[in-house]
Amino acid sequence: MISLRREMHANPETAFNEYETTKLLLNKLKSRGLDKVKRITDTGLYALLNGNKGKCVALRADIDALPITEDTGLRFSSKNPGTMHACGHDAHSAMVFGAAMILKDMKEQLNGSVKFIFQPAEEKNPGGASVLIKSGVLRSPRVDAIFGQHILPGKPAGKTGFYPGVMMASQDEIYITIIGKAGHGARPQGTIDPIVTASQVVLALQTIVSRNTDPYEPIVITIGRFSGGTINNVIPEKVELSGTVRTLNEKLRKNTLKLIERTVKGICLSAGAKYKFTISPGYPELVNSPAETQFAEAAAIEFTGKENVFKGERFMFAEDFAYYLKQCPGTFYWIGAGNTSGLHTSTLNLDEKLIPKGAAFMAYLAWDYLQKH
Ligand SMILES: [Zn+2]
Ligand SMILES: [Zn+2]
Repeated sequence: MISLRREMHANPETAFNEYETTKLLLNKLKSRGLDKVKRITDTGLYALLNGNKGKCVALRADIDALPITEDTGLRFSSKNPGTMHACGHDAHSAMVFGAAMILKDMKEQLNGSVKFIFQPAEEKNPGGASVLIKSGVLRSPRVDAIFGQHILPGKPAGKTGFYPGVMMASQDEIYITIIGKAGHGARPQGTIDPIVTASQVVLALQTIVSRNTDPYEPIVITIGRFSGGTINNVIPEKVELSGTVRTLNEKLRKNTLKLIERTVKGICLSAGAKYKFTISPGYPELVNSPAETQFAEAAAIEFTGKENVFKGERFMFAEDFAYYLKQCPGTFYWIGAGNTSGLHTSTLNLDEKLIPKGAAFMAYLAWDYLQKH
């Protein structure tokens, strides 16, 4: 498991480019006594283990890396410049692989089948989950429940945390262009200054959070890019803004996007400017089924002891595991990565002790679920 993780870490590939990673995983899984190992899309695969007659549980890992330059100084640092496993997907893959190796030796004791999913492109819209689902990853045999885990820096290595219900946010990208009328910086009359207008838009968007939304309903509107102009004394023709919108329910999500456009429209109207507004829809909110979450938490307490289970947290991150949970019950849970920098940082250095622990628990969870359902 550790050597697989390090090999993936040294050879990271970004979303939808995971060709070598897919080859590596196929090679590692073949001739290991599994019933089926199948590449299902260009860069995505699953393995199947058929035990006795019963239900089917899926264990999911994501396999893609990020466009980040690694700065950990590890012996097995990234050999691909500008690319790094900075979200722990190398560890997720090693753990699902490990769970497969544990369970194939217990096939006779398995009351059903287990599908081990290695999914590409978690980090990029439209995401690998929806692509795999379209390609039939949840069919033949039909998956009855699905489990996935994500490393969490700042929690002790290998401890797990669970959260029933909505655990992660929906995420949409917004693109706004404010079109004014260019002119001399010393002669603003007769121009329509898109920089002043866009500044008003950015500030007004924050009042959607503070004035138009129930204070008990979390919502984030971040404008991460504000771009326009060339030089001090020229009023430019246009300004481009782009940002991300996060909410925890579908109704609020739709309403927020409407309010954003209304705000942009109103401010542009008062300034005499024109605008373009586009939305690139991202992942929906992630909703853990209460029963499966409770089951997994109880299994973790039984398997690792109460002291190794922490109270899971909700985050405004987004995860395309959300798509599987729209198709079948299951839960996505946290696994501590030890004391290291945050997800998506160039210095993320997870504690590898979590890998055997996480693999063993995943195997136990699948076995236990089939035993009791
Ligand atoms: Zn990530
Ligand atoms: Zn991730």
